[in-house]
Amino acid sequence: MNNFEELNLNAELISAITELGFVKPTPIQELVIPVLLDSNRDLVGLAQTGTGKTAAFGLPMIQKTDTSIKQTQGIILSPTRELCIQITKDLKSYSKNYKNLRVTAVYGGSSIETQISELQKGTHIVVGTPGRTLDLIKRKKLNISKINTVVLDEADEMLSMGFKEDLNSILETTPESKQTLLFSATMPAEISRISAKFMKNPLEISAGDKNVTAVNVKHIYYEVQARDRYEALKRIADVNPKIYGIIFCRTRRETKEIADKLIQDGYNADALHGDLSQAQRDSVMGKFRSKHLQLLVATDVAARGLDVDDLTHIINYNLPDENDVYIHRSGRTGRAGKSGISLSILHMREKHKLRAVEKMIGRKFDKLLVPSGKEICEKQLFKLVENVEKVEIDESQIAPFLDVIYKKLEWLNREDLIKKFVSVEFNRFLSYYKGAKDLNQVCDPREERKPRQPKERRDRSERQTEFGFSRLFINLGSSTNLNPSSLIGLINQYTRERNIDIGRIEIMKNFSFFEVDSSFEKIILKAFKDASFNDIPIVAELANPKQSIQNTKTPSNFTRKENFKRKENFSKRKKIGKKRRD
Ligand code: AMP
Repeated sequence: MNNFEELNLNAELISAITELGFVKPTPIQELVIPVLLDSNRDLVGLAQTGTGKTAAFGLPMIQKTDTSIKQTQGIILSPTRELCIQITKDLKSYSKNYKNLRVTAVYGGSSIETQISELQKGTHIVVGTPGRTLDLIKRKKLNISKINTVVLDEADEMLSMGFKEDLNSILETTPESKQTLLFSATMPAEISRISAKFMKNPLEISAGDKNVTAVNVKHIYYEVQARDRYEALKRIADVNPKIYGIIFCRTRRETKEIADKLIQDGYNADALHGDLSQAQRDSVMGKFRSKHLQLLVATDVAARGLDVDDLTHIINYNLPDENDVYIHRSGRTGRAGKSGISLSILHMREKHKLRAVEKMIGRKFDKLLVPSGKEICEKQLFKLVENVEKVEIDESQIAPFLDVIYKKLEWLNREDLIKKFVSVEFNRFLSYYKGAKDLNQVCDPREERKPRQPKERRDRSERQTEFGFSRLFINLGSSTNLNPSSLIGLINQYTRERNIDIGRIEIMKNFSFFEVDSSFEKIILKAFKDASFNDIPIVAELANPKQSIQNTKTPSNFTRKENFKRKENFSKRKKIGKKRRD
């Protein structure tokens, strides 16, 4: 199917949607529109937002409405006020050539009196949140006796927001003969129960597989240590200068914290969470929709009503506890045929969640490395150059200053001038990322499965250290008369600690390696800072920082096997230590 004419839509509708830029029907429209126009059959549609489902049910509803009678003929129930407003807006633009057709939105948190007076003027299609719609039905302000279509939009969201009872009541009170359409991005068991109870032999239509995300969304993850999550987020934002996305957090507190930090760090960001008043919500959403904000930090609940088409990224600051939520989050990008990226910042312990999500959506996530400072600076530099190329010059405004500017800069040649202009902004990134550390989590089980290098080719400093131990380097060796007991003496002397577990000691000619309980790693390195041995200033450092990260795991996050091994090692050390002291 290539065009809307073949779907038997009226010329009035086709002309309106053509003006909106709809050239051909989306897959869900191809499937749903003919069924709704030709029959009264109930329908369950598996579709996410962004697939064009509003037009899929909205266009036939408009076409089937009898505008010669002033009766409400269709009700569309949707989970949030924002979605109600959006759907109403969409239906109004689709029906712009139907002069007498009226669509009214009703939702909580807004004056019921105004909504009642709108209903009393006569309306054909009501778009409402379940609670307010039921309230109006009970007050007998919304007449449902002539309803021929009920749409449950984002049914799974309505259920998860606690509207189950309201939905049941509405479906029970509306006429038996009505056509019921249910759209949902996921199909939890409760949806099947609603469909079994209230729908007659519904036709099941799917714009994709069950619980599957859009094909044009790329799923990516970065693996970092938990403490580096925020730093990784900033790098992701910095390496994508044109990012326009939502950062999902699990709690209001985290949402506020991250948004505050981003704002303080100079990002164009704001927060959307349940503690905001409706006016504050509207203001934040308005700024985000009009792209005056690049990053919106939000909780899942608060972001529900937000419908924005061209998001470049969805960022999961952490993976949600429920896999369904991931589908909703990622479904906010890659809408209307565009491509999008859903990325997640994970730490090791979240890997199992990742596997569960992969299984559910039937797609593999690609692992990317958190960009280095160098990569970010490069990206920002080219963005800067692009901005310079594209900036429009307001000749009349700048003209009066040019003579002075030319004079002031005449001593600079072309190359220096370019370098200086670019550096004004670029220096900020250079200095911020100067010496920036590698944030990539090193302990990836996928990497661990790779065959190890042959023994002789492994660097001595990379030697596997036992769990719970860190391997340190010291610039002293046999040539400077260091031996195991003098090394232990040095540690005792400078740390003033007698209970440090010391592991393997390797004395070389000019330097040595020794292992210590990881929880004393920092204390020893600090103690050795101004220390000396036989008048030689001591230089000590971590022999293999990568292994240190792995070994500084706290006992609570060791696996049982690791804990067992660790205990065994400690008791062995104790025996050796005892022998040494004896
Ligand atoms: P929805 O899933 O209804 O929220 O629609 C997502 C976006 O796709 C909205 O901005 C619609 O205006 C747009 N859209 C819907 N149908 C089409 C179509 N056939 N062609 C192009 N865009 C569409």
